[in-house]
Amino acid sequence: MTLVLVVEDEPQISRALVINLKARDYEVVTAGSGRDALETAAREKPDAVLLDLGLPDMDGVDVVRGLRGWTAVPILILSVRDTERDKVDALDAGADDYVTKPFGIDELLARLRAALRRAGPHDAEDAVVETAHFRLDLTDRRAELGDGSAVHLTPTEWGVLEAIVSHPGRLVTQRQLLQQVWGPEYGEETNYLRVYMAQLRRKLEPDPSRPRYLHTEPGIGYRFLPDTP
Ligand code: CA
Repeated sequence: MTLVLVVEDEPQISRALVINLKARDYEVVTAGSGRDALETAAREKPDAVLLDLGLPDMDGVDVVRGLRGWTAVPILILSVRDTERDKVDALDAGADDYVTKPFGIDELLARLRAALRRAGPHDAEDAVVETAHFRLDLTDRRAELGDGSAVHLTPTEWGVLEAIVSHPGRLVTQRQLLQQVWGPEYGEETNYLRVYMAQLRRKLEPDPSRPRYLHTEPGIGYRFLPDTP
């Protein structure tokens, strides 16, 4: 059984989530405040956390930080559209993904399954990323297209690409990318990312103007979507 912790202070939304999750055979525990969430997580050790950012007693971002102090459990943010800054802060603090309220339950469940899959047992370092259109060997830093032709990527392009494709399906924030590739003092230079993403798409995407693999979440970050099996 997979145990999901639902952190939500609006009883109606909480109840709807519980009903839908239980209908899909998840076990569910709920918390209505940040403090309650941290205590319940420590006690119940859930397999995933659905976290509303607007809580009565604490900033949801602080709940993320509190959880990340001791657990790598997948955290999905539930946020309203006008809390973009909070959403980014929560992702930077270590949340895995977000869905915007009002959300479709199917989308939420798909994101939840993806997060659980990523958190599950992994094969030895997955150093080769293969899609219908290109193949990347992250260890040897070799890229080729489906027809076998080699693609030359610069070290910085490799850095950006590796940061994204190493976590298929996961939303990587602009700040996370900048800090990982350029260094800890970076974080606001989103124009760098636009330039490098355009280059990577031109080299790797079948149609660079309509990215199939390297997606932009406007104002938030980037996500590698592998082919669906
Ligand atoms: Ca709320």
